[in-house]
Formats: sequence, structure tokens, C-alpha cells
Amino acid sequence: MSLLRFKMVDAAINHTAVPVEAPEGRPSDYFGEKVFGRDAMRKYLNKATYDALVDTMENGTPLTREVADSIAAGMRQWALEHGADHYTHWFQPLTGGTAEKHDAFAEPDGCGGVLEEFSGKLLVQQEPDASSFPNGGIRNTFEARGYSAWDPASPAFIVDTTLCIPTVFISYTGEALDYKVPLLRSINAVDRAATEVCRYFDKNVQKVYSYLGWEQEYFLVDESLWAVRPDLMLTGRTLMGHESAKNQQLEDHYFGAIPTRVMAFMKELEYECLKLGIPVKTRHNEVAPNQYELAPVYEEANLANDHNQLLMTIMDKIARRHKFRVLLHEKPFKGINGSGKHNNWSLGTDTGVNLLGPGRTASENLQFITFLVNVISAVHKHNGLLKASVMSATNDHRLGANEAPPAIISSFLGTQVSAVLDKLAASSGDDAIRFDAKNVFKMSGISHIPTLLLDNTDRNRTSPFAFTGNRFEFRAVGSSDNCAEAMIVLNTAVAHELTAFKAAVDARIEAGMKKEKAIYEVLKAMIEACKPIRFDGNGYSDAWRIEAVRRGLDCETSTPLVFDRYLDEETLAMFGEMGVFSKVELEARTEVKWETYVKKIQIEGRVLGDLAMNHIVPIASKYEAMLLDKVYKMAQLPGLNAESDIALIKRIQRHTAEIQRLTGRMIDARKVANRIEEMRAKAIAYHDTVAVCFDQIRRHIDKLEEIVDDQIWPLPKYRELLFLR
Ligand code: ADP
Ligand code: MG
Repeated sequence: MSLLRFKMVDAAINHTAVPVEAPEGRPSDYFGEKVFGRDAMRKYLNKATYDALVDTMENGTPLTREVADSIAAGMRQWALEHGADHYTHWFQPLTGGTAEKHDAFAEPDGCGGVLEEFSGKLLVQQEPDASSFPNGGIRNTFEARGYSAWDPASPAFIVDTTLCIPTVFISYTGEALDYKVPLLRSINAVDRAATEVCRYFDKNVQKVYSYLGWEQEYFLVDESLWAVRPDLMLTGRTLMGHESAKNQQLEDHYFGAIPTRVMAFMKELEYECLKLGIPVKTRHNEVAPNQYELAPVYEEANLANDHNQLLMTIMDKIARRHKFRVLLHEKPFKGINGSGKHNNWSLGTDTGVNLLGPGRTASENLQFITFLVNVISAVHKHNGLLKASVMSATNDHRLGANEAPPAIISSFLGTQVSAVLDKLAASSGDDAIRFDAKNVFKMSGISHIPTLLLDNTDRNRTSPFAFTGNRFEFRAVGSSDNCAEAMIVLNTAVAHELTAFKAAVDARIEAGMKKEKAIYEVLKAMIEACKPIRFDGNGYSDAWRIEAVRRGLDCETSTPLVFDRYLDEETLAMFGEMGVFSKVELEARTEVKWETYVKKIQIEGRVLGDLAMNHIVPIASKYEAMLLDKVYKMAQLPGLNAESDIALIKRIQRHTAEIQRLTGRMIDARKVANRIEEMRAKAIAYHDTVAVCFDQIRRHIDKLEEIVDDQIWPLPKYRELLFLR
């Protein structure tokens, strides 16, 4: 192996577990200690301020300036006592990730000293100097102002020595420039629509929450090896690399014993998470070597999403302390599983009922079926849009690959729920739904729906949108995604569907029909109409692709074209009616999506071109020269046969020539694409003419990796990246 590679592998081997700062006490002692949550609020705010803030958090009542000042004073004191010296508005711009600009609490007091300052004004609103955040043209440079505004629903927290205040990020003219604004709007939309529908069943329901429980998959790679892989460093994935002889075929990594150094990382990560109020619960090895997963207990979606964003940041920080780099790219390595996020999603009432969980009474179960059917109907109508919400240049490699959900959205319900829906749809007339003396819900053929006990083992791992007993699990989300994007679409689509459902039921009731019968009739029609979205079979099979086309599901695989779904008439109408996105916002965000796609592919193209031309071709040529030298010398001696060496030289020749030719072609394609002004057309050009070159070039590089002397190969190989830890 090359000297550099040898040094890095040696370093990796010698990286041993660093001692974890031992947590003092039990999780219940330190959980949330870095969060300005209810306990801290009670301690640092006076009663009136506390009550006003809780009212804002729970009911959205606007804060007065006096209250804001009083909260800021309490928050400052808490933060200073907990070691903070700076504060920042913490927001989620469309770049992905989070943004922060730290300001010191200390301010000159005008008399030669400093004072720790923090007013309500600074807490509530700021104007980040942020004209360079992606905005899709909403803020052109002469109106570059954007505002960040405090989201009291998500508590402030301390990272290192900085008080972080979760905020929304909007333009001067009020358009959303982040993920949080539309997420909050979608949460409100589904709350309004679902509460109305709940009242058919229980008049006491005042509010419906959307819940999110994410599962985060990731890879760990040793830092020294990472540092000599420019592709990993700059694009987050390996653009080349021959498959390791052993990878995941033995299936020995999934749920296997966690390696010591990884365990030390996980423990520290969990400790940090718990202090930050992230209720982490589950950790395990994933399917691929060096792949892992972490999942918390589900929370209200806005908070859960902030926690996921925060997690991704601190994961990176802690990984470095353990001489790892965390890879959140959806497909860092070819030939083995990629990483996703599973968004477990449900709706629940303020009376404590999970609307996607079967209940004990007839009424509860009719309610359950009502919500379930509305969800799958919404997913059916907007399956293309839901896919668009998770498509990206990076997730592109995962969706449709062999281990991940296909790039077609369908829903798996399990045999029991499927049977219930089929019976409901097939039964006819008034006898289909009856209530007996004990108010037990009876349908022809199914005697006791009330005791629906859903079998959790009835699972389908290939389904992108699976019902898992008391929630839906959206599995197509990318590991690096902001969960909000998918949640915005899902919440809004479900809100829209519930609104239409309510209107249809009310119309029947007004015409004199009994409530249960009206609900039943509308559901029956919906079950029939959304049938194409239900699929319990193998989502990876070719047969399904053909079948999905026949069913009219969105089967587009080109990422830039899938983004078009954001601008469909139905989409504009849905987001508009639900008050989640205006047309201007959707146009701007789609523009950002295309632009981000272009930039990512552009960077990959450059890195691949550089590596091909200044790492791979020179090394291959060096080896070739060695062989040529040998062949020349052999010719000096009688009786030696250089045929096999000459054949090898020819192979190297062929691969290096192809690499050079294809790299030239890729660069030309990039030049052509770069001249295109319109962002959508540019993204399509990048997809169709630039990205297609990557695998072609890579094929030849990977062949060379197989034949070139390992002593001089410069890049750490898959076996080193995946098995050293
Ligand atoms: P899996 O078998 O898919 O790994 P887990 O039991 O690990 O499932 O749970 C995955 C996630 O689902 C966790 O974050 C959990 O909190 C979440 N979850 C459980 N119930 C609900 C629910 N009702 N709504 C939303 N998320 C939920
Ligand atoms: Mg899961």
C-alpha cells in the first residue's frame, strides 16, 4: 500500500476508544439539564411570566413586549449560570442543516466595563445578515433582509457555551425561507381539520397533535482514512472503490455486538442527547458494516424535528472526538445498503387517543378506520408529491436501489387492516354497519372489529409507507434530510383530505342521513378510489414497477422531474387552501431544489474528474511503466514469455484511455449545462448528461483498483473504510 495510505491505516488501527466522560447519576438526573424547559422556566421566571409563556406555547397567544423582556431576563440568568457566554438564533435554512451566528452576552456598559445584556427584543426577533441563504429569488439583493423569530413551542438549549434559541426564518415580505415555518403551518392545518373530524366521535377533543418518531441511520468511518478520501470529504460519498470481498453478505453486522470504540461514541452521544432533552432510546448496528442506527421516543413533530436537526450536528461533533467521521449521506458506498431516516408518524388528540391506533369501542374503531382511510387516500392523491419531498441528488442513489424503498410510493397495511377495508368496501346496503345492544360495531362477516388487535409482526420491509400497528412509517426519507419536508407534505395532504371528508359527510347529514351511515358511505367510496396505493407485495420486484405504472402511480425516477410535482395544479391548490405555502413560496423552494441538485452534481463531477486525472491515471501509468520496463528487460533474456504482462499493459491502457475520454466528455457536458440559465432545464441537463458519466468513469477506475499494485494504490479501499473501527 502507498506510504500515505499505510500511515493512515496504521493510525486507524491505533485509534482506540477514548474514555467517555462518565455521566453523573442516572438519566433522570441529567435529562434536559441543558434545556430551558418547564422546570427551568418555573425556577427562573415569575408566576405571571411563566403563565403567559405557557399560554403562548400551548395556545399560540402572542407575547407582549414586557413579558418577552421578563422571559429574556430569566433565560439570560439561567444561561449564564449554566456556563453560556453567547447566544444565537438557531434556524433551519434551505441549505439543509442549521444556521447560527453567535453574539456575546457581554456588552460595553459605557463606563469602561461590560455587562451581560439580553433583552426581549433580542430574544424575539433578529435580522440575520443572511442574503446568501438560498431563497429561490424571493429576496433579491436589494431587499436582502430576512428575519428570524423565536418559536416558543421549542425550548431554548445550550450547546457548548452558546444559548441556542429555536427560530423561524422568513423574508421581509413574510415568505418562509426555512423548514420550520411551513412545518408549523402544516401542524396547524392538520390540527384544525382533524379536530373537526374527531368531534364526530368525541365532542371533548380540542386539539390534535402530529407526532414524529424518527430513526436515524448513519455510517462511521475512521477519521484518518476519511481524510485521504477527497470524495468522502467533499461529497460525503465514495465516487469510486471496488467492492470489498466481504461486505454484508454474511449478515453478521445487523444487531451484532457493537465495537468498543463505536460504543464509546454512542454513549457520549446519548449522554449529550439526554442533557439536551432528546429522549434517545434505541441504538444498534445496521445491516451494512460500520452502519448504525439511533432512535428516540416519538415527540410532537415540531420538537422532534428540532431534535433531529440538533442530533445531526452533535453527532458530527462527538464523532470527531472519537476520531470518527459520521456519514449522513444516503449512499456512501456502492454495493452495500445506504442510510435513511424512517419517519414514524401519527396523530393524537389532547384527550390522549392515538387516532391511528385501533380502539376498544365501536366508535373508537370507526374513528380509527376514518383516519386510516383519510391518510392512505391523501397519500394516494399526492404520491408523486410525497416522493418529491424526499428526492434529492443524494437520496437518488438509495431510492430504487436494492435495499431501500422503490422510487414509487405505495402503502402496506398488513393483512388484518386490509381485510377490514375490503369488507367495508364490499359490503352493501344498510346491513353493512350495525350496532348491537352493547353498542358493538358489527359488519357482515367481521363480528368484532372492536377487538382489533393488530399483529405487529405483520410487516413489509420493502414498503415506503407502511402501517405498523399504531402509526405509519415513511421509510423513503433520506438520512441527511430535514424530516420536516416530508412531514409538511404529509400533514398538509392529510389535512386537505380530512377537510374534504368532513364536507362530504356533512352534506349527507344535512340531507337527513344518520351520521354513522354518512361516514361509512364516504369511507366506502374513498377505500375504492385509493385502492391503487395499497400494495402488500415485494416493492423491489420488477413486476411491481410494471404494475405501478398500470395503477397510475408516479413512477418518474429523474429527480429534477420529480420536483415538478411541487408545482402541479393540485399541489398549489392543496397548499394554498390549507394555508401552508403560497405559489410564490412553492416556486422559490422548487427553484432552490433544482439549484441544490445542480450544485451537488457539479461538485461530484469536479471531484471525480480531479481524482480520475490526478490520482488514478498517474498511478495506473506508473504501474504500467513498471510493467513495460519488465517486458523490455525480459526481452533481453531468451526463453521468457511476456505475453501475460503485455496483456495486463493493454488492459491498463484501455481503462486509462477510457477514463480520460469519459472524463473529457463529462467536462464538456458540464460546460454545456453551465450555459443554461433556467434552473429546471439546467438540473435536467446535469441529470441526463453529467451524472450519467459518473458510473461509467467509475467502472474503469474500479477495474484498475483490482489490477494495479496495491503497494502504490493511493486511496483507502472499501475493506479499510468499512472494517476498521
Ligand atoms: P422499528 O421496529 O421500526 O425499528 P421502533 O420500535 O424502534 O420500530 O420504533 C421506531 C420509532 O417509532 C421510535 O422513534 C418510536 O418512538 C416511534 N413511535 C412509536 N409509536 C409511535 C407513534 N404512535 N407515533 C409516532 N411515532 C411512534
Ligand atoms: Mg422502523
